[in-house]
Amino acid sequence: MPKSQPLRPPPRALSRDNSYEVVTNSGRRLHVPHRSRQMPADVWVDFRGTVPEIWKAMARDKGFRIHRRVRDRLHLALECCICGSLTAHKVYTLRTAQPRCGGCAEADLIAQARKAGLVLLRRDQRDRHYALYRGKCGHVLKRQFELVNRVANGLTDVKCRRCLIEREQEEARKQGWERVRRDRSGNPSYREYRHPCGQVQRIARGNLQWGQCDCARCGKSWTAKPSYIYFISLEFGDGTPRLVKLGYSKHPVKRWRHQLKLPKSAQVDVIRVISMPTGHDASGTERAAHAALMREHPDFVVPNHIFADVLNVVSEVYWPAAEGVIQGLLDGIEARYPTKIS
Ligand SMILES: [Zn+2]
Ligand SMILES: [Zn+2]
Ligand SMILES: [Zn+2]
Repeated sequence: MPKSQPLRPPPRALSRDNSYEVVTNSGRRLHVPHRSRQMPADVWVDFRGTVPEIWKAMARDKGFRIHRRVRDRLHLALECCICGSLTAHKVYTLRTAQPRCGGCAEADLIAQARKAGLVLLRRDQRDRHYALYRGKCGHVLKRQFELVNRVANGLTDVKCRRCLIEREQEEARKQGWERVRRDRSGNPSYREYRHPCGQVQRIARGNLQWGQCDCARCGKSWTAKPSYIYFISLEFGDGTPRLVKLGYSKHPVKRWRHQLKLPKSAQVDVIRVISMPTGHDASGTERAAHAALMREHPDFVVPNHIFADVLNVVSEVYWPAAEGVIQGLLDGIEARYPTKIS
């Protein structure tokens, strides 16, 4: 414990929110370098001891004045000759490097933010690469210093997520929908929207903007009409091995041949068909089934080059060995959509 009169630990400095700076009893802020920021504020008290002339000379050469010794025999509070701020540094740093002024660094960040059209509010406590800013729109934005730097240099711009959501809500309202949330399967082009009838469905934002957003429950388009999930066996008669395909269609069985643009020699055998209440349900369920197959049974997925010449699809084709697994998936789908639509 130093014998000098300890500085009163500043109340604000004890909170994690202000860990970057410490206020001294003379009402001045002491900037503490990042690596020391986890130290409690009350370690930065005066340390009694004389300041050797050689330290004073070194500080002068490097643009500082030694304000006082602090914390222990190894630390100094340096006063910047440019901005007058106090920054805590090790004597070792003063001797071997150019100490950085916390006040000048902060002024740089404020200036950079202003150039980027932002107001720096405070640094982020958890990640030293981030800070909170107030945008032109008034919203608080957490951004990386590096990004703000690029914005200040005109290389990119600050996109406010809350403003974007508000814009999307307005777009949805114009089309008679309500924006619910981003797409839960992570597709950046899609959002989930709610229709006044209560139906919630994912719609590509671009489609919604153009009004191409029929409600799958009460709308008129095919997405609202009954549809089918089919599981078929395909033999091509041209040397291509037998394959199975899982898909969905709004058309009855006889149209599949046309839809898949099969060669004349091909033979289609229907293994199973499940009626779905809407095309929207059919496409979503089918997509989920393919995702499950790709994830859990990648060996069953037939490489595209095997069928590229005989089938008008790019994927969703499996080896016959997948039949048992696919039947299991279809059992699950049928259990969820028990209503038969004729
Ligand atoms: Zn300075
Ligand atoms: Zn905003
Ligand atoms: Zn509806």
